[in-house]
Amino acid sequence: MRHTLCAICDTDQWDRPLYHEALGDGAFTSDRFSARRMPDRVHYRMVRCGDCGLVRSDPVLDEAELAQLYAASRLTYQHETGFAGETYAHYLGELLPLAPAKERLLEIGCGSGFFLERALDMGFAEVTGVEPSRDAVEAASPRVRDRIRIDSFRGWLFPESSFDIVCGFQVFDHLANPNEILAACRRILRPGGIILLIHHDAGAWTHRWLGERSPIIDVEHIYLYDRRTMARLLGKNGFEVKRVFPVRNRYPIYYWASMAPLPAGVKRWLIPKLRGAQLGRAPVAWHAGNLGIVGVPNW
Ligand SMILES: [Zn+2]
Repeated sequence: MRHTLCAICDTDQWDRPLYHEALGDGAFTSDRFSARRMPDRVHYRMVRCGDCGLVRSDPVLDEAELAQLYAASRLTYQHETGFAGETYAHYLGELLPLAPAKERLLEIGCGSGFFLERALDMGFAEVTGVEPSRDAVEAASPRVRDRIRIDSFRGWLFPESSFDIVCGFQVFDHLANPNEILAACRRILRPGGIILLIHHDAGAWTHRWLGERSPIIDVEHIYLYDRRTMARLLGKNGFEVKRVFPVRNRYPIYYWASMAPLPAGVKRWLIPKLRGAQLGRAPVAWHAGNLGIVGVPNW
């Protein structure tokens, strides 16, 4: 295990304990690192930086071991990709007027490439994805399969000034080295290029209310950001923050039920029932506790 520091303050001296470790046996399996749609309250010890407020796990698994778990993780969310893609495409559409061009887009952690297809539909000339899970990439459609690199994202994978837009959806919470990744994003963006991130908002009322029972308190997550801490991290890495906004997610009722803090036995009974019923498959949209943030490098 590796000791972590606050990614904003680069120290642990203001740490305040938040939750005790709850790893148990078998915490580190590729199943648990497969974007589970049934969170089971397995998590590292968690702390909050008393200075900047950033929440993080500490200690965490070594980076090489994490990379292996993500490489072996399976695609478990085929049913929901249509809904997620629609949401991400909506927010991409909103920021297009800020983009220098609609030519080259990169998505970090693109899974099966469902959002890359949307970006092609929206008129992007060239889309590229990076995704460590071979299983996810094998499920990609032929339209984008060859545009996805099976790897963990590293800056040197791409030349400088390669992209107009770099996106990361539900990715940053999982990264052990967010400063390195943001520095790399800045380098591969063209002048005027844009970064668009969507991920959990640790400051959302849903997560504050649920506390340790929130689905975001999870062994997959290393840093948990809110509007303020994500803006500070972007600023630290040379980005000017253009927009921060709450994300409205649209998913079927059975999906929301799977994320709710219900006992596992209840979920095992309830979710298949909901999936089988018309009402359970009906989509519902609400601000469930995600944030979006848009930044541009300040050259
Ligand atoms: Zn801090």
